[in-house]
Parts: sequence; C-alpha cells; structure tokens
Amino acid sequence: MTSVSTLNINVRTLLNPWTGAYGGVPPFDHVAVSALVPALQTAMDEQLAELQVIANNPQPPTFANTIEAFENSGRALDRVLTIYHVYTSTLNDKPMQEIELEMEPKLAAFQDAITQNSALFKRIKAVYDKCEQSALTPEQKRVCWLHYQSFARAGALLDDPAKETLSAINQRLATLYTEFSQNILKDENDKQIVLDHDTQLAGLPSADRESAAAEAATRGLKGKWVIANTRSSVEPFLTYSTQRELRESVWRNFVTRGDHGATDNKPLANEVLALRAQRASLLGYATFAHWQLEDTMAKHPDKALQLMRSLWQPAVRRVHEEVADMQALADKDSIKIEAWDYRYYAEQVRRERYDLDANELKPFLQLDKLREAMFFVANRLFGLTFESLGKKIPTYHSDVSVYEVRNESGQHVGLWYFDPYARRGKQSGAWMSEYRRQENFSGSVSAIVSNNSNFIKAKAGEPMLINWDDAVTLFHEFGHALHGLLSNVQYPSVSGTSVARDFVEFPSQLLEHWLLTPEVLNRFALHYQTKEPIPQALIDKIKQAKNFNQGFATLEYLSSALVDMELHLANADAIDVSQYERDKLLELSMPAEVVMRHRIPHFSHVFSGDGYAAGYYSYLWADTLVADAWEAFVESGNVFDPDIATRLRDHVFTSGYQQEPDVAYRLFRGRDADVQALMRKRGFV
Ligand SMILES: [Zn+2]
Repeated sequence: MTSVSTLNINVRTLLNPWTGAYGGVPPFDHVAVSALVPALQTAMDEQLAELQVIANNPQPPTFANTIEAFENSGRALDRVLTIYHVYTSTLNDKPMQEIELEMEPKLAAFQDAITQNSALFKRIKAVYDKCEQSALTPEQKRVCWLHYQSFARAGALLDDPAKETLSAINQRLATLYTEFSQNILKDENDKQIVLDHDTQLAGLPSADRESAAAEAATRGLKGKWVIANTRSSVEPFLTYSTQRELRESVWRNFVTRGDHGATDNKPLANEVLALRAQRASLLGYATFAHWQLEDTMAKHPDKALQLMRSLWQPAVRRVHEEVADMQALADKDSIKIEAWDYRYYAEQVRRERYDLDANELKPFLQLDKLREAMFFVANRLFGLTFESLGKKIPTYHSDVSVYEVRNESGQHVGLWYFDPYARRGKQSGAWMSEYRRQENFSGSVSAIVSNNSNFIKAKAGEPMLINWDDAVTLFHEFGHALHGLLSNVQYPSVSGTSVARDFVEFPSQLLEHWLLTPEVLNRFALHYQTKEPIPQALIDKIKQAKNFNQGFATLEYLSSALVDMELHLANADAIDVSQYERDKLLELSMPAEVVMRHRIPHFSHVFSGDGYAAGYYSYLWADTLVADAWEAFVESGNVFDPDIATRLRDHVFTSGYQQEPDVAYRLFRGRDADVQALMRKRGFV
C-alpha cells in the first residue's frame, strides 16, 4: 500500500527542479508511475496560476513582464512531461495506457485554457504590435512573433462560443490520437506469426533466426520462432524468406495493422479528418492543410504538392523497371511479382547485378562501432567529444546509457541518452527526444537529448550487428540529437529542434550522408571477428548500388505523403478512408507491386497527433535541401570541409528557430536549394 505521504514525496520528485550534476538530470531512479497523474495535474495548475499573474499584471505589457515571463512559466510541467513522454513511448504498459487515455484530453484542454486566456493574449498582442519598432534583439522579435502567431493560430482571436467548440474538438482529437496509437501498439505487440518448424525459416540469415527464437522465448514460446508484427522483424523476413506463402502472411499481417477487428482505426481516422476540417473552418482556413502549412517552409499546400508530383512519374517509371528486372528472375520460379515478393526479389537482383548481399555487410556493422562512428563525425564536423558516464546517471531501464558531450574547448555541451533495444511497450521505429532544451535565458541551461531505436538484442556474448538501413537511421536520429545539443539560443521556444516541421528533417537527413564516406567506413566498419576494415571492393559495391531500388523507396513514401496531403485538402466531413485510399491510389496509377509505407489505418505520423498531419511531405522537402547541401561538401573535395561545416553549424545546427528556415538555408549555402540536386541524388536524371 502506498501511503499518502509517500505519494506526495513521489509527486514532488517529479515536480521539483532536477538535481545532480550538469544542471540536474531527470530523476528516472525515483519515478513512481502512480505519481504521474497528480504531478501533471499539479504542474498544470501551477502554470495556469503563473500565467494568471502575468495576465493580471497592473503594469503596462512589456517584453520582459509578458513574453519573457511566459517563456519562464510551466517549468515544472516541462519536467513532468519529459518523464511522462519517456513512459508513454518506451514503457507503455497497461497502467501507463490508462494514464495516457486519462491525461491526453486533459492536456489538450489545458493548452486551450492557455491560448484562450484573453487577458493574457491581449498583453502578448500589445507587445507583438509594437515589437518591430522596438529596440528588441532579432531573436526577441522572433519570439514575440512566435507566441503571437501560435495563440492566433490556436484560436485566440475567436469569440467565446467558437472557442468553446474549438476546445471540445481538441479534447476529442486528443482521445482519438491516443486510441489510434494504442491500437497500433496492440497490433504490433499481439499479432505475431508463430513458426513451429525450422523449415519455415528457410532463407533467413542466422541473426534473424536467432532474433525470431529470442522473440518467441520472451513470449513464452520457447523452441518456436516468432515474427513480430513490427517493421524491424517483418522487413528482414520479407527480404530473405524463401517461403512465399509465409511471406504473404507476414506481409498481410503487417499492412493490415489497425485495419480490422477490435483495433480498427478507420472509424477513428474518419472522425479525426472531420474534426480537423471543422477546426480549420472555425479558424478561418480553407482546409486543415492550409492551416498546417502556414507555419512551414513550404508555406502553402500547393508548393508541397508540386514537389511531390514532380517526383511521382520518374518514380513510377523506375518501379516498372525494377519490377521488370525482378520478374526476369521470378519467371524462373513461375511467380508473378506481388507486393510480398518485392523485397525478396529486389534482394536477388541486387545480389546478381551488384554482387552485393546485404548480409555481407552486416558483419562489418557493429552497433558499438557505429556509435563511435557517429561520435567521430560529430567531432570532425563540430568539434564535439562524447564520454560515457557509466552508471553515474540514473536511467529508466538498464539498456539505456548516458554520455557527456563537450565542445573543442572541453566545455560541457549537454547529455546524450541512448536507448537502442526493442522491448514490449516501446513504440516501434526510431526517434529522438529532447528531455531538456538548451537556453541562455534562465542561466546557461544545457540540452539533454535521447536517441531511441528498436534493435533486437543479440544473444548474450555475441556482438550486436545491424543492417545497412538501420545504420543509416542511426545516423539520422543522431542528426536530430546534434541539432538539439548544439543549440545556442536565448529562449527555450526557439531552441534546438523547435523549428518548422519541413526544416527539422534537414539536419538529420544530412547527417546520414557521412556514413557512406571512406573516412568513416575505413575506421568503424570493422569485421566483428577479424577486426579488418570493410574491403574497398565492398564499399564500391555499396556506392554503385546506392540508387538501387530507389523507385520502390520513393514510391512507398510518396504514395503515403500524397494521400496524407490530399486527405487533408479534401475537407470532407465524412470520408470513408478505405474507399478514399483505394480511389486515390487508382487515380495515381500506383503500381500494384508497391504498398504505401504507411496505410491510413496505421499512419501514426498523421493520426496519432497533429505533428506530421498534412506534413509527411516534410521528409521529401528536407531532402531537397539535403541533396543540395551535400553537393556543397562533395564539390569542395572534403566531406569535412571546415568552412562549410562552420557555416552549417552557425546557421543550421546552433540557430534553432531564430530565423525563417529559407533565410537560414541561404546563409549556409549562399543561395536557395536546387531541386535538380534531389533528382541527381535519387538517380532520376
Ligand atoms: Zn527525423
């Protein structure tokens, strides 16, 4: 039994400023899940009280007594939310899911209580109206604008009945988002494919067999094999299994997540779309997409659509070529290529054409070495060093490790947490989170960030080997981490990765490129047994095969991105999403051999929150910048060119959201990005 006083202590622990070295660290060793709800409640109440003081200030509104005071509010809530989000994303068990379902609508209502506080908004608007003519710094002016527009975009200018409707919509959406993501988690956790005989593993590399056996063991099915319904288990199976019927079962299981039964997400998606359309109209926008893109680098849905459409035909043509190449091999097996055959035959073609077997690479891709490789890149580009802190810093799971990051003068920069392994209750995929944002406003506060992946653990005593795509993803997420760590701004609201959605993937996607450089591969792609570096011949093969299967990769992404954008431009209040998906793909002449990377019923980017809704195009948008930026390094003849790296650091990695992203890009590159660079990068010219 937990006594009231113990609970109070647990709540205070979550609310209080973090203690210990580095300006304090998250108290992961003292988290009681039962304390999360009361702590969130208290923290929200505290911030509302703080904001009331700002709103009721009898002094005339100034930047200091209004905007800065606002920036400084809600510190306790930030701390509790950090812990809460770690638990919802990486330790999401049954009790946590109940907490999430209870808290998400309350957090939405809390946000509305802030943006609908008219006395507070009046003061923010008063400061904003005078800010351009004031003596404020450019960053301060930017922060004024940011707060004003985020209030206005959230409905602060509406009348009271409209505000009430808006708030009801937001709370309902919060519940729908939570249910949507919990349904996917359920389908990923529970709908596995069990294999009873080792003949069913035919074609699988030994590491994948072992993972399947380990997966079975954790589910109490010792002696069997389990193909979990997650991307990290499904994709290797589809690539290597020679058992076509099983490939089809595994594929169907995966692409129908959230599509039927108790976890059917389609009605939720329908309702989300209707509510978003209603909200956009209430806020005075043509569609949700128009509202969403206003605050991005693209600015308007047409610009995003234009980019996506310019790539569609070249990608479709490439897919037809890829299918023809694969069909030539499949004919020998008397098979007509279907969607569940794509990865398998693509791998066969790759082996034949480039003499490149993805498994040949794996012995050279040790997770530990790749982590060192990322540290090396961060050092060569930005002068950073990383040092393991061992067990000195509390973590929420024994798999998590913590590193201190320093700059070239040895000064503390921040902390990097690394949580590499899959576990039940952990969201699939890979991501970065910011536990604490850098700022100089309330003293010099350093960033605390984390990278998360879902590697399936190697057997005890064996090295953790990963595949090439996962190595690329590792570098990607590390790019986000560096963006958070290197931030050097005054105010938290413009710090680190708090930039436009279609700009935030620029640093991360750019960082991927340093993996495939001789400087990195020769040092860190070492064979786990012989310690020999990866042979040059193999590097050459990777380079030659770089544009291989780009048709498939581009189209599975682009179909999802286009459907996302068009769904949100349709503005209909009753869309049957399955019908819509079928019709749209037909209209686009989507080749039958490719399936959307994220079908609507499990499109978390779009339906587990507002974040990437009408925003999945962002990866492509950012890739246009990336392709152009990488050419700058390549053309210089030195991928670590110090001048270019310095410009990249000063105008992209450290500057947060202090300026418009197109301005930041021009400062870095000296001009706008050239879209042709993207076509060259994907081999479409
Ligand atoms: Zn990313």
